[in-house]
Amino acid sequence: KNVFDVEKIRKDFPILQREVNNYPLVYFDNAATSQTPQQVIDAIVDYYLNYNANIHRGVHTLSQEATDKYEAARKKIQKHFNAEKSHEIIFTSGATHGINLVASGFSAILKEGDEILVSALEHHSNIVPWQMICEKTGAKLNVIPMNEDGELVYTAFEELLSEKTKIVFLNHVSNALGTVNPIKKVIDKAHAAGAAVLIDGAQAAPHIKADVQALDVDFYVVSAHKMCGPTGVGVLYGKEEWLNKLPPYQGGGEMIATVTFEKTTYADLPHKFEAGTPNICGGIAFGAALDYLDNIGFDAIAAYEQDLLEYATKKLLEIKGMRIYGVAKEKTSVVSFNIEGLHPYDIGTIVDKLGIAVRTGHHCAQPIMDFYKIPGTVRASFSFYNTRAEIDRFIEAVEKARAMLS
Ligand code: PMP
Repeated sequence: KNVFDVEKIRKDFPILQREVNNYPLVYFDNAATSQTPQQVIDAIVDYYLNYNANIHRGVHTLSQEATDKYEAARKKIQKHFNAEKSHEIIFTSGATHGINLVASGFSAILKEGDEILVSALEHHSNIVPWQMICEKTGAKLNVIPMNEDGELVYTAFEELLSEKTKIVFLNHVSNALGTVNPIKKVIDKAHAAGAAVLIDGAQAAPHIKADVQALDVDFYVVSAHKMCGPTGVGVLYGKEEWLNKLPPYQGGGEMIATVTFEKTTYADLPHKFEAGTPNICGGIAFGAALDYLDNIGFDAIAAYEQDLLEYATKKLLEIKGMRIYGVAKEKTSVVSFNIEGLHPYDIGTIVDKLGIAVRTGHHCAQPIMDFYKIPGTVRASFSFYNTRAEIDRFIEAVEKARAMLS
């Protein structure tokens, strides 16, 4: 693996050269969407310049080239997450789509009296689809509480789990706090009780390389746009036996074996869940993004980002009135905070004037904000292309905001 050279890495990201409000951009909103390296931009351009065509149906050369590249990307993704079979990788439009696909499938399985478990730390996209399915099926949604440190209360999970529990869904990493959940423990415990587990890996996947076989997880969803890939594409990993059990999510072309007005039969995996023309270029570019990340190496990425996290945490805590939410031992490179007496939105607006992009608000995780009784937080999320010097500029900007607003 290559030596970690952040200045060299930064050259791969053209957007990092731009200015915002006459300052060099500092991009600390990576948990919302990561930036795109030239290698991925090149893959997108190459597709539209050279072999843009619909896949899986054409006999012509372009269609075959596009199909080969798209299926090669699926294999790359399979290898990255260590799925046993490439047809266990379903292309989606993102994590939200993957979760809805599974939730909708479970509406054919759940009955009145069944229970499903969700954590209090979820993104809305891992709450609302399940609420909709509960309404439809009469199943009951139980919530595993969180504690002050932003951690899942594991003992409460053990108490809530029973033979009535059909599925547990939980994020690998909380998007609002960056805290890492003990997913392996949850998966093993849930399986022992006969429940399936869906892990929302949207926030983990940019930082932690999940091994779906070692985890023995039933479903794992990610979005490419948080992993240096384009928007509008992601994958659902599902164990073959589960994907065979679930009904199709959408009907259309590509997902059928035969169609007559009397009876339609469905295609084999993965096509059963891939109705219509997919985001072909996006899937191929997602593969290029994984090549890019794997070439740097996730161990190197994690070590570097942990240094940024520690540095930023220490510096932020020197600011008067600072409260950081989510202080769990294991965290990805996210700091979510407030300054006493100030509104997060005001801080975000002032630091943007100084060229620094952070996220403010509830981060699509209102239950977490309700738990802390706050309207929202300022969230700075670091990537491996950020630097300590950028954190220094951020600290200075936050200090300035505090002085202006107090
Ligand atoms: N889950 C988590 C934990 C997330 O952070 C996000 C994106 N903010 C999603 C799900 C949804 O991802 P997408 O909008 O790409 O579908």
